[in-house]
Amino acid sequence: MNMLIFIIAGLLVHCVFLASIFDIYFTSPLVHGMTPQRTPLPPPAKRLVLFVADGLRADTLYELDDNGTPQAPYLRNIIEYKGSWGVSHTHVPTESRPGHVALIAGFYEDVSAVAKGWKENPVEFDSVFNESKYTWSWGSPDILPMFAKGASGDHVYTYCYTAEKEDFGAQDATKLDTWVFDHVKNFFQAARSNQTLFSKVNEEKVVLFLHLLGIDTNGHAHRPNSREYKDNIRKVDEGINDIVSMLEDFYGNDGKTAFILTSDHGMTDWGSHGAGHPSETLTPLIAWGAGVNYPQKVTFQFFEDEFLKEWKLEKWKRLDVNQADIAPLMASLIGVPFPLNSVGILPLDYLNNSAHFKAESMFTNAVQILEQFKIKMTQKKETTLSFLFTPFHQMLRRTDVTTLYCHHNLSSLCMHRLRLLSDTEQINILRKARSYIHQEKYHEAVSLCKTLISLALEGLSYYHTYDRLFLGISVVMGFVGWTSYVILLIVKTHTSLTRSTHDKASTVLLLYGFAAIGVLIAFFLLIQTCPWTYYIYCLLPVPVWYAVVKEFRVIQDLASLLLVFPLGQSIGFLVAGALGIEILVFSFFYRSTLTVGLIAFAGWPLITRLWAQAKVTTLCWTLLCLLLAMFPLMPVVGREPNISLVTVAGLVILLISSFFLACLCKSKNKYVPKKDLTILLFQMLSIALSTYVVNSTHSSLHHKQGLPVINQIISWTTLASSLFVPLLSPTFFFQRLLSILLSLMSPYLLLSTGYEALFPLVLSGLMFSWIYMEKEALQHYDDSLKPKLAVLNFSYTTDITQFRQLHLDDIRRSFFFVFFIVTAFFGTGNIASVNSFDPASIYCFLTVFNPFIMGSLLVWKIVIPFVLVSCAFEAVQVTTQLSSKSLFLIVLVISDLMALHFFFLVKDYGSWLDIGTSISHYVLVMVFTIFIMLLSGLAQLLTTKRIELWGRTKRHSM
Ligand SMILES: [Zn+2]
Ligand SMILES: [Zn+2]
Repeated sequence: MNMLIFIIAGLLVHCVFLASIFDIYFTSPLVHGMTPQRTPLPPPAKRLVLFVADGLRADTLYELDDNGTPQAPYLRNIIEYKGSWGVSHTHVPTESRPGHVALIAGFYEDVSAVAKGWKENPVEFDSVFNESKYTWSWGSPDILPMFAKGASGDHVYTYCYTAEKEDFGAQDATKLDTWVFDHVKNFFQAARSNQTLFSKVNEEKVVLFLHLLGIDTNGHAHRPNSREYKDNIRKVDEGINDIVSMLEDFYGNDGKTAFILTSDHGMTDWGSHGAGHPSETLTPLIAWGAGVNYPQKVTFQFFEDEFLKEWKLEKWKRLDVNQADIAPLMASLIGVPFPLNSVGILPLDYLNNSAHFKAESMFTNAVQILEQFKIKMTQKKETTLSFLFTPFHQMLRRTDVTTLYCHHNLSSLCMHRLRLLSDTEQINILRKARSYIHQEKYHEAVSLCKTLISLALEGLSYYHTYDRLFLGISVVMGFVGWTSYVILLIVKTHTSLTRSTHDKASTVLLLYGFAAIGVLIAFFLLIQTCPWTYYIYCLLPVPVWYAVVKEFRVIQDLASLLLVFPLGQSIGFLVAGALGIEILVFSFFYRSTLTVGLIAFAGWPLITRLWAQAKVTTLCWTLLCLLLAMFPLMPVVGREPNISLVTVAGLVILLISSFFLACLCKSKNKYVPKKDLTILLFQMLSIALSTYVVNSTHSSLHHKQGLPVINQIISWTTLASSLFVPLLSPTFFFQRLLSILLSLMSPYLLLSTGYEALFPLVLSGLMFSWIYMEKEALQHYDDSLKPKLAVLNFSYTTDITQFRQLHLDDIRRSFFFVFFIVTAFFGTGNIASVNSFDPASIYCFLTVFNPFIMGSLLVWKIVIPFVLVSCAFEAVQVTTQLSSKSLFLIVLVISDLMALHFFFLVKDYGSWLDIGTSISHYVLVMVFTIFIMLLSGLAQLLTTKRIELWGRTKRHSM
């Protein structure tokens, strides 16, 4: 098969595999067509004030400082004397948009909706704001518009500041909050003299929403432990105090205002959010005012975390909720219908109301969630063949059944019939609950409604994940087929194991057979009116397996070969292979696994007796392996900035390059062109400059003087030149590799804030010794091959037509490459440090918030070590006289096996942290596979191409 076609097919197949999990795991949970449900009793509050302190952590708000004084004295006072409090548990991704959607619309936005557009509204959804009579909101332009846009009519008013104000480099971010407080005060000042506005704000079902972005901005810029973050909390506390007394005054202390303070997500100690660490998912919830319960004193309460003691709040009852529960709470306080797509369960403990009200509200809540379940079931029923449709019969768990039996004496609903949540059962349970309310058995009604809600929610998720198994099987079929095909391709074209002959007649027969299967599958999907993406997932395995079965002669040869192979040896080989893959998979969960792997690598020459052959090289290899093994044990980057380590890295690389320069000048028998020296000197200068810029930028920012323009110019110039300058240097092995290293180190230094600056240095040191080790390994295997590294030239690689055949040692070679690629990625960080970047590392380039540029810079920082490893691998291929194609195919098999492993590890149960991590692992490995393909192209370009600036094209051959 043509290489180009193969690469295109490979890319396509992997894109499909990658996209598949978004159809399997990230489909929109929303359904449409429900009728609004409202509690029939009068609500306790006429208006609701919602304060969202963006990025406020629960523990930072609740804990006392060293002197025992609270961070937010006013709010602490409310917890102790006026209202109810608790922890609101958010879901991943802990970002502003999904957090606000959960708070205000009551459902957890799926990641695909976030991916579709951060500021846009990808789906129509209902919210508390939409159900209100009027909502006035103040705050960030990133958040407010999405609720105004989704609302029907124009009863949601937004007042935003400009996006430029969100500069978190130099300015004081608390201004974002004082802006909001001032505008609210001015608004009510204006309302006193404006009759229409005055009557509007005095209506019932009014919501005021204050979005306070200052804390989040300060947290990103200075981290949550900073004085700035805590000062901002105090400012917000004072601001809330002012607003509350202003409102009480405005409304003449009518006691009809309810207040809620919460945040959309927390923040890690190093100032990021997005993942599922408790510091990110635990947010505060404080409610007070009309309809909200007063503090409840308790003598003992149990929570698994140790926070209560830390916060000295053991005596006040802590009422935890899920973030989406806040939406029905708000709706119930002002008496508007629950948002249509809400999956929140009304937290009754927060309500200060009659048992009748609570029972009615819970009943409404149950009906509202059941509506969604019904519509979801009907939809699924319509698109599935009736004989294949398996209705939701998630059994009531045994405890639920006994609860129902003992406490409610549900003799009319026999146990058998309860197993199916059919239409009649729903009506029966609702009718029963209704009659309990009539009989004033409110407690029973509430617990019956709760059972129904949990059943309906389970049913919702059942139908939501209905197609998961069937799609999963399709994708796994495709995976296994593709991997087998690549293995067959390796065996067929790069080894002498088989002689392939084609039998025309049987090939044609096969083609017809597979085409028929494809048509059958398509027909089957057609009558079920499946979405078009399903066709891709289900039809993809057909051509892939056709390609596999077509090579049945190779399979036969391979099978007969394996049969004569000694059993012990093949088992040993399999075990080693499996162990290698497992180490790679484990390193995604525990970075320290990489240390184990690197220590094993350090011992590799001792086992294979390579050390006897080349003692110095072995010593270098072992030492560098052990040195690199220390990096995965260090904490994730960015938590403790240490610019002096960046300086050390800059100096070390300058030392190495001057040593090389001296060697180059001293060598007498070689002609060294002046321009090569010029380029080297230029690169050294660039390194020195970068080291200086990092130091000067961070000290300037530390003194709050902003980013000097000249530093910014130097940074961007260095970045732009980094890919271009290596192309000017000669293509001799070490000169070119050193040139690539020097060029890439300068932007890496600029993007570093701590020890990670040393990482590419040690990594490339190991890469250099790896190239030598592979040369030795090759000689060890076959004495006739003696490449001379010093004279090897990258530009000749394309000239070599006589590649040698693959043998088993090449699998180890490829494994080393994959392992180094994984090390390049996890050596300095983990998933959490990738999806939640640390803005401090890009301060040399810009300080104004710009997610796209920030993201691109961060990606480039992550890519640089990959490029180094890939270039070294390119060198290994040249040294060992292998075609890049064959080694690359083995790499593909290894990474595909890993990806398949992670596909099975993707899970939809357990904590949200587990789910989020498992999915990002899969995405990462898939991206790796696609990425390695692109990377090998980039490495080839970087190592083989040469630009002659001086117009002279001369090959420096020896
Ligand atoms: Zn936020
Ligand atoms: Zn943020």
